Amino acid sequence: MDCLFCKIGAKQIPGKIVYEDDRVFAFEDINPQAPVHILISPKKHFASLSDAGEEDAALLGHMALVAAKLARERQLEAGYRTVFNNGAGAGQSVFHLHLHLLGGRTFRWPPG
Ligand code: AMP
Ligand code: ZN
Repeated sequence: MDCLFCKIGAKQIPGKIVYEDDRVFAFEDINPQAPVHILISPKKHFASLSDAGEEDAALLGHMALVAAKLARERQLEAGYRTVFNNGAGAGQSVFHLHLHLLGGRTFRWPPG
């Protein structure tokens, strides 16, 4: 499959991987929007959250817990943001599911 994040996960193209286990990998965003900007992706290919099913609930929960662990390690307790952009209308540009972990600055609400 011609998928950028599948290729990063399989180490076929370079990525700055900061965490990996049997189900997920996490890597530095190439165009960071905050001092910490990490993407957490499943090794299994999903285009977006809309393509996940009930059988993926544990995997999605695991992705959230990996984000929390990385946030703790990077001392982001003052506040961090986790985001799934779902669909082009929400700004999704890479169609392999990923959870953004953003931290190290203050964030506004509502988001843009
Ligand atoms: P989204 O817009 O939610 O689909 O997020 C895609 C993210 O992937 C963006 O924040 C991009 O900066 C990031 N990105 C695109 N290509 C790469 C790459 N080769 N390595 C790391 N991050 C990337
Ligand atoms: Zn993929």
